Amino acid sequence: MSIEIKNVSKLYGKQTALNDVSFSIAGGEVVGFLGPNGAGKSTMMKIITSFIPPTEGQATVCGFDVSTDPIEVRKKVGYLPEHNPLYLDMYVKEFLHFVAGVHKIPNPAQKIEEMIEKVGLGREQHKLLGALSKGYRQRVGLAQAMIHDPEVLILDEPTSGLDPNQLVEIRELIRTIGKEKTVMLSTHIMQEVEAICSRVIIVNQGNIVADGPTSEIRNLASTNQQLVEVEFDGPVEAAELLAIEGIEDAKHIGNNTWRLRSVSEIDPRKTISAWAVEQDRLVLTLKREEQRLEDVFHTLTK
Ligand code: ADP
Ligand code: MG
Repeated sequence: MSIEIKNVSKLYGKQTALNDVSFSIAGGEVVGFLGPNGAGKSTMMKIITSFIPPTEGQATVCGFDVSTDPIEVRKKVGYLPEHNPLYLDMYVKEFLHFVAGVHKIPNPAQKIEEMIEKVGLGREQHKLLGALSKGYRQRVGLAQAMIHDPEVLILDEPTSGLDPNQLVEIRELIRTIGKEKTVMLSTHIMQEVEAICSRVIIVNQGNIVADGPTSEIRNLASTNQQLVEVEFDGPVEAAELLAIEGIEDAKHIGNNTWRLRSVSEIDPRKTISAWAVEQDRLVLTLKREEQRLEDVFHTLTK
């Protein structure tokens, strides 16, 4: 096993951040660690990378215990911390030389070239870190995490704060990296896990509430429930909307705009459009909301 977590708890003072958590991750897996803010994701990742000790339980990486063998653990693990703290007044190469020095990497110049190539930093390699966009800073963070060729990569919210293009690029990069390494990445975005990970562990308030293949968890979490937001060209009554097939709930959210909850298998946008035509009404906007993580949690924890 690459990562083995046995009955790990972590308390900050009296506050429980992790509560008797156990799981293991095999070599080569790409696992999403999914949960809302404050769930305990970063705490778990700091324990795995041996930055903080567990209060109780045992965590091992490639067979090395994080409490008794932290030096070996750090050789095996690459870590991209949350918010990716970087020395902004250092140059890209200068920073990577610094990191290579910490890991005592032989022939650092060659290794740095290799990393720059791997994470796609080519055009930006002569810049100050402070001059890089968030997306390129994340690339530097990934280069930094992989420079000592670790077996396991721990990426704490690697795409948070990226614009949509950068997001796609960094996800693609992580997918490529995931072909060679064991990866555990945290996120609070369901779609992110679906895009990158074959397995998902869902954590909520320090407890694991689900663990399994991404496809299975998605099915487990999905109800037939769908939410749509619709704007009509004039006033309508809640009772009229509730009479549409499948619509269970209608909430007025402003002007002639409603949020409708449907429990039908059929896409509610179809039935709503058909109803509007029948009633000689215009639909000005109609959009379906992505299933929100909160809904998933609700389903999984109730
Ligand atoms: P996540 O990364 O999922 O957002 P964290 O692991 O950062 O969650 O936090 C889990 C819980 O532990 C939160 O309630 C948070 O406030 C608390 N916590 C995290 N770090 C500390 C700390 N250094 N001191 C006290 N409480 C902390
Ligand atoms: Mg966090």
